[in-house]
Amino acid sequence: MLKRTISSFLLIVMVFALFAGCTSNAPTADNGGGQTSAPQPAGSGPSVEEALFTADKYTGEGNGFGGVIKVEVEVDANEILHVNILSHNETSGVADAAIERIPSQIVQYQSLAVDTVAGCTLASKGIIEAAENALTQANADISKLKAAINKDAAKTELLTRTADVIVVGSGGAGLSAAIEAHKAGKNVLVIDKMPNFGGNTILAGSFLNSSDMARQKNIAMSAEELAQIEAALALEPENDTMKRWQETIRVELDEHIKTLGKNVLFDSPTLHALQTYIGGDYVGNPALIEIFGANAPKALAFMEEHGVVWKEPAIAMGATWARSHAPEPTWGYAGAAFAKPFIEYLQKNNVDMLADTKAEHLIMENGKCVGVKGHTTQGQPFEYTANSAVILATGGFAANVEMRQEYNKHWATLDENVATTNGPSSTGDGILMAIEAGANLVGMEWIQMVPYADQTGAVVNSADIMYININGERFVREDGRRDVMSKAVLEQPEARFYIFYDGHTVVNDVGVMSDIDYTPFIADGRIKKGETLEALCAQINVPVETLKKTIDAFNAIVDNGNDPFGRTVFGVHIDQGPYYAVEKSPAVHHTMGGIEINEEAQVLDMGGKVIPGLFAAGETTGGIHGSNRLGGNAIADIFIFGRIAGQNASK
Ligand code: ADP
Repeated sequence: MLKRTISSFLLIVMVFALFAGCTSNAPTADNGGGQTSAPQPAGSGPSVEEALFTADKYTGEGNGFGGVIKVEVEVDANEILHVNILSHNETSGVADAAIERIPSQIVQYQSLAVDTVAGCTLASKGIIEAAENALTQANADISKLKAAINKDAAKTELLTRTADVIVVGSGGAGLSAAIEAHKAGKNVLVIDKMPNFGGNTILAGSFLNSSDMARQKNIAMSAEELAQIEAALALEPENDTMKRWQETIRVELDEHIKTLGKNVLFDSPTLHALQTYIGGDYVGNPALIEIFGANAPKALAFMEEHGVVWKEPAIAMGATWARSHAPEPTWGYAGAAFAKPFIEYLQKNNVDMLADTKAEHLIMENGKCVGVKGHTTQGQPFEYTANSAVILATGGFAANVEMRQEYNKHWATLDENVATTNGPSSTGDGILMAIEAGANLVGMEWIQMVPYADQTGAVVNSADIMYININGERFVREDGRRDVMSKAVLEQPEARFYIFYDGHTVVNDVGVMSDIDYTPFIADGRIKKGETLEALCAQINVPVETLKKTIDAFNAIVDNGNDPFGRTVFGVHIDQGPYYAVEKSPAVHHTMGGIEINEEAQVLDMGGKVIPGLFAAGETTGGIHGSNRLGGNAIADIFIFGRIAGQNASK
């Protein structure tokens, strides 16, 4: 058996670099409340006599999310002829819409005042900046090119169409629902309000949790981990379901020890369910959680069938058990594997998918949901009718400050000063539409913060990490629950901290577990790097002597255990330069509550009755994660219940 290595112990994945590449294209006063209107060509164009440019090709550079974007702009005396992107390091799947749209819009409207693309603001701005730079060399009057341009009048003609199943939202839940409905022979329509498909899911740097003994048998189980299971089995059961789970696990564990021994990690769908229930403080619905645990291996296999290649399981941040599956970078960064294969499948199978299409209301007839209506981002109204059902898969509300504030009961504030790791699409629209249709909501007060997030943060995928405060001291177990870690950070001086790690975790500036190239983040200062501790501390203003003491104490705990903060997961010493630090502070990451569904993913009304024709799946629903979602459980949730919703909506 392989000794569990450092890299399979504790993974800290910061998804926020990816999010930061797609910061909100907040609706501007002139784009109609978030609906970007296509700008009109600026005037009738210059006369030949007043040359606007010095005809030639020019290259210019701008800064996107991933670093420098280089464009070539070709002009003649009167016109911008072409804008071509020569090179960039933007995230595929996230910045695609900006890369496709911005250059052609600059040409189409002969203007630098084109709208940035929602979901990829930084990439949009980088392209515009690069074009400006090139046009400056062409002696253009930049202020004229930046003058506000007229917007097209919104189209008013009502768009209509009918499908068997309409899926609202194209994150993991929506995509997997659409695939199942398509496989069931239904005519499916997927709509999404964003210009890109993939939702918040494609931005996730996350993992999928599933028991998977075929792979987990290569992982060692520590005495502390075995004790953790025993402690869970010794808990007073909350209800009959929990009692049954404990009894099942007792039998499974005894059998496991008999056949594989105490030193091989134990896992099962029932242990996954029990830990999810306990991890959520018994707030979740055991009936849904049981389905969740049992179907996670099926979701794993489903994703594999669609081309996702899994790494060996590890522990995602806040997962509490080594069942977190990260994808190989076959499809790009982590979240890409959770969306791209499924988008590709739907497109290959000619399933209708409409971007820039925002559902605003469900169409209800005699208490039954028969469609959705709303507007395109160009402002055109639509009414789409569903023969069988509508599936709401619109994600959570982490990016909706008003809703956060309305439902929050457990954090001092979740106002606009509190960042979110989520993209701008997570505004709780599905929940609001479901409320109108009479749906019941559950667990809305449970809003998850993660300890390390900021909107322009970097991706960190680390095995041996410490959290240090600005004084260079540890302050919490780094393998603990997300809510506990977040609260601990909020109690630190200046409510911020550094994730600190060494050359075991990042080799040649590439993350060992994530394969992510950190070079651009080091270059722009989001990740601080020092060849020595002294060099690093000088950059982050942390007292080096204190940090050295903290590291010595940490390394002794790696050897001997007994962490005063209770950490149980350790790898090797922190002792190998270069050293890295990334400043972080907590941010809203996931909203555990949402629309109440039953085991069939049907939406329930306030009286517990099914609302006919209406299903929901993914983060827009509540009831699974209770008060605290375990890291890696969201991706499992969206694929499990997305598939269930798709299957049942097709019946
Ligand atoms: P999940 O993880 O539950 O699948 P995601 O956040 O990944 O959820 O995806 C939700 C998707 O739903 C996003 O692509 C988002 O743009 C889309 N969406 C949210 N609200 C609406 C809406 N009102 N109309 C259409 N699409 C929406």
